[in-house]
Amino acid sequence: MTDSGGNGTLNINTGTAVETLDLTKSFKGKVALQGIDVTVRSGEMVALVGASGSGKSTLLRHLNGLERGDRGRVEIFGMPLQTDGRFHSKVRHLRSQIGCIFQQFNLVKRLTAIENVWVGNLSRISLARSALRLFTPAEKQAALSALERVGILEQAYQRASQLSGGQQQRVAIARCLVQGAKIILADEPIASLDPESAHRVMQLLGDLNRTHGITVIASLHQVQMVRRYFVRSVALKDGAVMFDGPTTALDDTELNRLYGTAAQELVLSGHGELK
Ligand code: ADP
Ligand code: MG
Repeated sequence: MTDSGGNGTLNINTGTAVETLDLTKSFKGKVALQGIDVTVRSGEMVALVGASGSGKSTLLRHLNGLERGDRGRVEIFGMPLQTDGRFHSKVRHLRSQIGCIFQQFNLVKRLTAIENVWVGNLSRISLARSALRLFTPAEKQAALSALERVGILEQAYQRASQLSGGQQQRVAIARCLVQGAKIILADEPIASLDPESAHRVMQLLGDLNRTHGITVIASLHQVQMVRRYFVRSVALKDGAVMFDGPTTALDDTELNRLYGTAAQELVLSGHGELK
């Protein structure tokens, strides 16, 4: 992909994509992140694993500048995004490098797939303009290319409300592509999908990671899917990193050691088998 951000100071092909240093956050006195130190190199695909409430969503929200830590630091491509609860002046530019995907797809249901691809880019196009279908030819072409890339070109003019969950998630991914995202942060991207759609979405994210070099950090609580699609895993518990290494080492014995009975929540998903 080209660097649509046009910022020559970011070296997106080498080095570190995302780094946290001592990232710490409490909500009303309850610790949600405890001194998180994680480094993700550009082009990596990393799973964030952990039971419900372990801090996966909170960490992802800090990485994309939606949440301020109480303490610590987040850097994107070597540039500070936040330090000790303060956002840096480049936060908007850094955010534009990051595409986000959520469990609930976050599409505007009454708009078509192609319109939704543009809605994600509110800094460049207003929702109203998008809804009035005032695309420039170049914008339209970029959106169609992205929809083709994710395999749903035929649904470009269908309303999001008429698309299946898997198709909606692929619209959300197409939105990241049009945005020119170099990093995709995905919070439980397959938790609302049937097994087959879940595998398709994971295969697509893996393919974008390999062919476009997009750095992917995705939270999942289905360990079978993590083992299938991610070389590296970071496992959280009570807001702390309990494991960071090759997914092959995150076997059932290790999961039981880390989580005790809560490990059941991570393996009983039924998402492991692909027909
Ligand atoms: P996960 O995504 O792994 O399920 P979360 O990041 O959502 O976990 O939550 C981690 C902890 O932080 C939980 O105890 C949760 O209740 C708390 N938490 C997260 N967001 C908020 C918030 N906005 N206000 C209060 N507590 C929160
Ligand atoms: Mg969550």
